[in-house]
Amino acid sequence: MSENDGKKTLGLKGGARSGQVKQSFSHGRTKSVVVETKRKRVVVPKPAAANTGGGAKGGSPGRRPAGISDAEMERRMKALAVARSREAEDAAQREADEKTREEERQRRRDDIEAKEREEREREDARRAKIEAEEAAKREAEEAAKRERDEREARVATTASNGAAKADEKDARPVEDRRAPVARTDAEGESHRGVGKPAGGTRRPERDDRQRDTRNAKARDDGRRAGKLTLNQALTGGEGGRQRSLAAMKRKQERARQKAMGAGDLREKVVRDVQLPETIVVSELANRMAERVADVVKALMQNGMMVTQNQTIDADTAELIIEDFGHHVVRVSDADVEQVIYTVEDKDEDLVTRPPVVTVMGHVDHGKTSLLDAIRHAKVVSGEAGGITQHIGAYQVRTDRGGLITFLDTPGHAAFTSMRARGAQVTDIVVLVVAADDAVMPQTVEAINHAKAAGVPMIVAINKIDKHEANPQKVRTDLLQYSVVVEEMSGDVQDVEVSAKTGLGLDDLLESIAVQSEVLELKANPNRAAMGAVIEAQLDVGRGPVATVLVQNGTLRQGDIFVVGEQWGKVRALINDQGDRVTEAGPSVPVEVLGLNGTPEAGDVLNVVDTEAQAREIAEYRHQLAKDKRAAAGAATTLDQLLAKAKADQDVKELPVLVKADVQGSAEAIAQALEKVGNDEVRVRLLHSGVGAITESDITLAEASGAPVIGFNVRANAPARAAANQKGVEIRYYSVIYDLVDDVKAAASGLLSAEVREHFIGYAEIKQVFRVSGVGKVAGCLVTEGVARRSAGVRLLRDNVVIHEGTLKTLKRFKDEVPEVHSGQECGMAFENYEDVRDGDVIEIFEREEIERKLA
Ligand code: GDP
Repeated sequence: MSENDGKKTLGLKGGARSGQVKQSFSHGRTKSVVVETKRKRVVVPKPAAANTGGGAKGGSPGRRPAGISDAEMERRMKALAVARSREAEDAAQREADEKTREEERQRRRDDIEAKEREEREREDARRAKIEAEEAAKREAEEAAKRERDEREARVATTASNGAAKADEKDARPVEDRRAPVARTDAEGESHRGVGKPAGGTRRPERDDRQRDTRNAKARDDGRRAGKLTLNQALTGGEGGRQRSLAAMKRKQERARQKAMGAGDLREKVVRDVQLPETIVVSELANRMAERVADVVKALMQNGMMVTQNQTIDADTAELIIEDFGHHVVRVSDADVEQVIYTVEDKDEDLVTRPPVVTVMGHVDHGKTSLLDAIRHAKVVSGEAGGITQHIGAYQVRTDRGGLITFLDTPGHAAFTSMRARGAQVTDIVVLVVAADDAVMPQTVEAINHAKAAGVPMIVAINKIDKHEANPQKVRTDLLQYSVVVEEMSGDVQDVEVSAKTGLGLDDLLESIAVQSEVLELKANPNRAAMGAVIEAQLDVGRGPVATVLVQNGTLRQGDIFVVGEQWGKVRALINDQGDRVTEAGPSVPVEVLGLNGTPEAGDVLNVVDTEAQAREIAEYRHQLAKDKRAAAGAATTLDQLLAKAKADQDVKELPVLVKADVQGSAEAIAQALEKVGNDEVRVRLLHSGVGAITESDITLAEASGAPVIGFNVRANAPARAAANQKGVEIRYYSVIYDLVDDVKAAASGLLSAEVREHFIGYAEIKQVFRVSGVGKVAGCLVTEGVARRSAGVRLLRDNVVIHEGTLKTLKRFKDEVPEVHSGQECGMAFENYEDVRDGDVIEIFEREEIERKLA
C-alpha cells in the first residue's frame, strides 16, 4: 500500500512538472521505471547511444538524454529537498522492483513483437544501437576466436610441411587486416567500418547474432529492456505508443477473431429452421440459435423496425434465415400439432381396456333412469350417504369382474357433437327403447348416429316391468330400421330391462362385456396420454375443471397437456368416486385440474413434452378457431367482408341465431342447419349458444335481420320486450326435426325461382331494309311457331348466337302486331342492335319462372 501511495505521489508530482516527464508519467507505472532505468543507464550506454543517435536518427536520441537528466534531476532535487536519503533508497528499491516487473512485461511484449515483423525502420534504428553496444563484446569474442585460430594454425603449421607454410602466410595478412579493424570497433568509433570489411564469410554469422541479440535483448540484459522502455516513453511516445497501440489492436483483433472464429464455427452448424406462416422474432432467433439482438438488427437492415416480441411473416423470416446462412424449412401452422400424432403403438404394448358406453334413445324412454340404476346397483360408494360424484362418466364392475365405463350424458346430441369434434369416445351404444312405447323419431336418430359412427349397438328394452310392455313390438319395429336383434335371428343383442326394478341390469352389463370382447378393445397404458373432454366447467373454487376420458396412455399428475384451445399441467386428478388419484389409465374418466381455460366437451386432450409445445398448439388452435369465426361472418375485417361478399355474390343467406338448453343440442342444431341449403341458398348461423335468449341476442339478430330460435329455452323478459319493439321473430322448438324443417321452409323462400326457357318460334331474315327513324329492319319469314313482340330474341348466324335481346318492332304490313305466326312474313327490328344480315336466323323464346323448394 505504502509503495503504491508513494508511487502515486511521485507520479502526480512528476506529471505536474515537465512536459517530457509528464508524458512518461501519464502512462502509469512506466514512468517510474523510466526514471530509474535512466539513472542506471546514464553511466554506460549514454555515449554509445549518443553516437548511434548521431549516426542514425537525430530526433529522438537527441531528446532522450535531456529527458533522462531532467527526470533524474527532479528526482534528486526532490530527494534532497525532502532530505530523506533513505526514502530515496526505498524509492530506488521500489523502482528497481518495478523495473524488474516492467522488464518482464516488456520482455513478453517484445517476444510477441519479435514474432510480428512489421516495423522495420524502428528495428534498423535499434539494430544500430544494439550493434554499437555489442561491438565491444563481439569484437572481444572475435579477437579471442582469432587468437584461438591463430594458435591452432600455428600448431598446424609446426606440425605440417612447406605447403602448410604457404597457408600460414595467406592466413597472416587476413589476421593482420582484421586485427586493427577489430580494435577500431572495440573503441566504438564506427560499427559500419566493422561490417564492411568483415564482409564475406563473417556477415551471416553476425546477422544471426544480431537476430539472436534482438530476440534475447530483453532476456539477457535488463538495461536493454530499460532502454527500450525509455525509448517508448520518451521518443514523443511515437515508437512506444504506436507499438502499444498496435499491440492493443492486435490483441483486440485476436480477441475479435477468436470471437469471430467461434461465430464461424457456429455458422458452420447450418440449421434447418422450421418456419411457420408467422413467427415471433425471438422465437425465430431461438430456432436459428442466433442472438435476438442480431436478428432484430438484421431485420432493421432489411427495413423492418420490429421488436423481439413482434410477429413477422414467413417471407421476411425466410430472408433473415438465409442471411444467417441457415436452411428454411417451411411448415404450415398445422405442423405444430405434429408432435401429438407421432406415436404409433406396437401390438405388444397393447393391453385390453374397458369399453366406453353411451346410452341413447328417445326422450322419456328411461335413459337417465337406466344410468342411475346401473350406477346405484354397481358403484360401491364409500360414503355412508351414498353420495356419488357426478363428473360426466363413471365406471362399474360387472359380476365377472370386468370394468365398464358409462358416459353420464345420454343422448345423441352430445354423442354426435363429440364425434364432430374429433372425439370418438364411445365403443358401444346402448339403445334404450321403452317397451310400452314404440320406436320414436329420436330412436331412429340414435340408430343413425350409431351407424354413422360405426359403433355397435345393444338394444335395451326398458320399462319391462310395466304391464302394457310389449317388447316384441319394439323388436319388430326395429326391423324397419335395419336393426335385427338376436331374438329376430340378427346379430344385435337385445336385453329386457327395468330401470325401475333393476331387472335385467346384470344381463345388460353382461351383454356389454360380451360385445366388448368381440371388439377387442385395446390401449397402451405406457405412453403419453390422450383423451377426450366429456364435460368442462369453470368452477369458482377450483378454476377450470374438465372431465377427461382417457382413451390411450396414462394421464398423470404433473403431465403437460393441450386440450382443444386450452393447455395446462395436471394439478390434480379426481376420479368418479370423488377421490384424488395420481394417474388414470385407458377408459378411466377423471376430473382434471390445472387448466388455463375451460375447454369444450369433445375437445381432445393430448399430453405433450413441454409447456412451450402445449402453449404453441393451443395458441395455434385458438387462432384457427378465431379465423374460422371471423370467416363465418361475426367479427370480420373489411377485407374479409369484401372477399366474402365476392364469394357469396350468388348465394343467398338466411341468417339465424340459435340458443339451446345444452351445448350438445346447440351443436347438433348447428350441424343440422349447416346441411340446409344448396349452392344458392344457405343458412348462416350468426350465433349459437347455451342459455336463455337475452337482449344481446335480439340486438345481434336485429342487426342481421335474423330470427332467433330457442331450443328448449325461452327469452327472458327484457329480450321479449326488445324483440317486440324491434320486430325480431322468436321461435321456440323442442324437437330438432321441427326446427330444421321450419328453417328449411324459410330458406326455400329465399330460393330464386328457377327460370325455364321455351322456344316459341324461328324466323329467317330474307332481306334487310333501312327505314328512316327506325334503323335497320329485317324482312323475315316465320318458319316455325310464332314470333311474339314481347318475347326474347336471339340472332343466330351459322348457328352461333351473335346477339340476344328484345324486339323494337314487330310489323306485319306496316302495322305493329303482337305476334306473327308460322308461314307469314313480317318485319323485325332489334332493340339497340343493327347488325342484321340476310340469311340470319332469329330465335324467339319465352322465359318462365318456377318457384322451388329445398329438398
Ligand atoms: P330419459 O328422458 O330417456 O332420460 O328418461 P328418464 O330416465 O327421465 O325416464 C322417463 C320416465 O320414465 C321417468 O318418469 C321414469 O321414472 C320412467 N321410467 C324410466 N325407466 C323406467 C322403468 O324401467 N319402468 C318404469 N315403470 N318407469 C320407468
